[in-house]
Formats: sequence, structure tokens, C-alpha cells
Amino acid sequence: MPPEILGSVPIGLAEIVERHGRAVAEGDQHATLNDFRPDRIGQLVASASLPEQLVGSEVLRLTAEPDGKVTALIRYTAADGERIVLRSRWVELAEGWRVHHVRNLPETPPRLPAEGPADDGLDTPHWDGLRAGELRIQRCTACGEWIWAPRPMCPVCHSFELGWPAVAPRGEIYSWTRTWQPFAPQLSGHLPFVVVVVELAEAGGRRLVGVLRDGESAALRVGQPVKGDFDPPPDEHGWPLLRWQLA
Ligand SMILES: [Zn+2]
Repeated sequence: MPPEILGSVPIGLAEIVERHGRAVAEGDQHATLNDFRPDRIGQLVASASLPEQLVGSEVLRLTAEPDGKVTALIRYTAADGERIVLRSRWVELAEGWRVHHVRNLPETPPRLPAEGPADDGLDTPHWDGLRAGELRIQRCTACGEWIWAPRPMCPVCHSFELGWPAVAPRGEIYSWTRTWQPFAPQLSGHLPFVVVVVELAEAGGRRLVGVLRDGESAALRVGQPVKGDFDPPPDEHGWPLLRWQLA
């Protein structure tokens, strides 16, 4: 089936994208790399995640973007029948149309293997809270100081009487960054994603680091309100994760 074309996609680009999909499916690395924007090859090689054995490709849709780039959806079929959709953005350079950025669909936030309580056990109540669907932050029972990251002793009054009250997962963006590089293999297919530092309204302004859901193209600014919800664990051994989104 010919791809769906949205907007004024330049003549000839559909053919280029189809050829690219075939090159990827056939494992033609030379042709695949040739289609990447030269200054982004290192990043693009690990940006999307595909099975090793592919048997087919189909361009589903081409969309002309307001900034002149073109977004392509290509569906790949693996040897075992699994189907994977990649979204690539194409930009016209002096040497021709090149892939500027690529990722897997649907847009899902990354998960890292380092999730879960730290070895010293200090933050275990926080992770237990996530299992219970609560955001629990350490607080000194003696003087009321909110404490994050968790400590064995209150930094203000030196009490060892520390509690873990639940607070609303709400706050404001203190800082944020959008990551385009696959710094770890687990990030492949999830790029770009946005990491936020959230200042918690109900926990004395303590700040948590987390990933913003659907932050790929969101217009972000410091001070924006965000709310959190809880991603279920990936399996029975995994941990739930707190994800942020614009409130
Ligand atoms: Zn204290």
C-alpha cells in the first residue's frame, strides 16, 4: 500500500524513505548509515531499537512539518512476525534528505536497570511507597525537617527519629534537560526524553529527579506545575516508577 501523505511532502522523498526502509530491513548498514545526517551518525546508530532479523519494511505515513522537516513512520517486520514502528525525522541538507532523528513508537519513557532501593537501604521506604502507589519522602519526626536524599540522621537537629509520610506527587519544574543521546543501551528507542528536577510543594521544596512523560516535544519552562503518577513495574521483580507530566 502506498504511504499516507500529509501536507506538501517534496516529490521523490517517499521513494527515498522507502529505499531507506528496505536498506534497514535487509541489514545494509552502508546504505543505512548513508541516509543518516553525517554529524549525528554516532547518536542515530543506537537511537532506535530493532530485532536483528528483519524480513520487511513498509512506509506507513509521511508528514510535512511546519519547520520544513518531514516525519516518516516505517513499520518493520521481524523474522518472528513481530512488527515494530520507527518514527524518523528527515531534513534536507546540501547533499540531500537525511535522517535527523529516529525513535521507536509508541513514545515510552526509558527504564534503567538501576531502579530500586540503594544497597544501604536508606531509601527502601520510598520504594515501598511507590509499590503502594504513594510518594513517600523522609521527614524528621523531631523537628519536621523534610529530608531528600534520605539520610540516617536529621541534618538539622541530628535526631534519628525519621518518618516517611506520603505527600502529593505535585510540584514545579526546578530544572529540566532533554536528552538526545543513547548514553546506555536501555535508552535506545526512547529518545529523546526529558529529565526534570521537581520541587515538591508538600515536602518543604525538596527536589526529586525524574522523567517527564510525553516530554519529547513539549514546550517547557522552569516553574511549570507538574504532577506525578506511577508506572507499573515491568515484571514481578521490577519496581514501579514515578513519572511526571505537565499539570
Ligand atoms: Zn530534625
